[in-house]
Amino acid sequence: MTGMNMSVLEARKGQVYEKGDGPFKLKCNLDSVPGAVSQRACVFCGSRVVLYPITDALHLVHGPIGCAIYTWDIRGALSSDRELHRLSFSTDLQERDVIFGGEKKLEAALLELIERYEPEAAFVYSTCIVGIIGDDIEAVCRQVSEKTGIQCIPVQSEGFKGSKRAGYQAACNALFRLVGQGDTSGISPHSINILGDFNLAGEIWIIQDYYRRMGIEVVATITGDGRVADIQRAHGARLNVVQCSGATLDLAKMMKERYGIPYIRVSYFGVDDMAEALYKVADHFQDESIKKRTNALVREELDAIYPEIVRFRQALKGKRAAIYVGGAFKAFSLIKAFRLLGMKVVLVGSQTGTKEDYEELEAITDPGTIIVDDSNPLELSEFLKEKRVDIFVGGVKERPIAYKLGIGFCDHNHERKEALEGFIGMYNFAKEVYSTVMSPVWHFVPRKAV
Ligand code: SF4
Repeated sequence: MTGMNMSVLEARKGQVYEKGDGPFKLKCNLDSVPGAVSQRACVFCGSRVVLYPITDALHLVHGPIGCAIYTWDIRGALSSDRELHRLSFSTDLQERDVIFGGEKKLEAALLELIERYEPEAAFVYSTCIVGIIGDDIEAVCRQVSEKTGIQCIPVQSEGFKGSKRAGYQAACNALFRLVGQGDTSGISPHSINILGDFNLAGEIWIIQDYYRRMGIEVVATITGDGRVADIQRAHGARLNVVQCSGATLDLAKMMKERYGIPYIRVSYFGVDDMAEALYKVADHFQDESIKKRTNALVREELDAIYPEIVRFRQALKGKRAAIYVGGAFKAFSLIKAFRLLGMKVVLVGSQTGTKEDYEELEAITDPGTIIVDDSNPLELSEFLKEKRVDIFVGGVKERPIAYKLGIGFCDHNHERKEALEGFIGMYNFAKEVYSTVMSPVWHFVPRKAV
């Protein structure tokens, strides 16, 4: 594999595999190699992206201003009501605070913000420097909660203490402190919580509408368009429906252990996985009328988009796609979605995939596909060129790599403005891929000229 030889550091070679190149072996869940300029985000960022869409909570970053700026309005998570989540508050720690401690500053900031914005709860994020100087944010949160009556929740997310995945765990621990506090009377026996959907471009509203049409009550959306009061009564739901590889699975596991609520894992991307998600929920409740309504819904939604998908497929047949995402679970759905469009996935990777995730990726990809864990811009650039990719799917850090190489790009991450979940989301995705790949602009870029 020429690209691999040219661009992969010796210490990284175990995290790259080309299908068919010997028995499948891929190392993952490791600390990033120093100097490799990983595409990964830090622990704090991992927790911030999970908790950020809770719209009526205060989000206060205890640390230097840069940590707060880095994650300010980090997702395109829409709200149907308050928009407190879109503000980024910071204690703006300075040298003096590092020497003498930042607890007093944190308490003052919390008191001022709670008085000014009247949130339903407050999340206080710990950053690298707080882990080093040892501020006791748990104690400060407790004191302020007693003084104000507003629950202040510490998020133990010191940036250096692991990978983004550790941030997901810190966020789930924080969420779990809210669950169990609300009144659950009146909740339907056919009820669920939606976990791991962040309402990017209003996607959770599409999914909520499907469940409503099936006759299922959604108790809490965690965390897209999330409300503190809903999360507090989430333990009254009969099933947790978890999307997204790592972000909220730990919360579902904790709720199963303490409240006995079962969970299922789903994906809302692509027609196969979307339909399967709805069928799985319908099957769980074993109710004939829910099953009937689900069948009718899937038929109706497919009929509406299928003729257009066929049209896009005719144009896109044989084109090549590359995927690099945060959690590997989304990559499974994307591979199926590209297959539906007649396209070939030649590169797939993730920041935080597990051993099981990569084994599944190896099973569903075609021979010759590069599978990569915790990659970096140099590697990705070489792979994209070597595999002559027509479209790269990723997030904000992958976009410039594609554009610098003159390759089409599809944003499938926090910042997207197009709803890509649900049946209508598959149509939007196909349309975006079609208009990007088929654009005449690519005839004028250097990669086509050589
Ligand atoms: S928590 Fe640490 S690694 Fe994360 S943004 Fe702040 S300084 Fe950077």
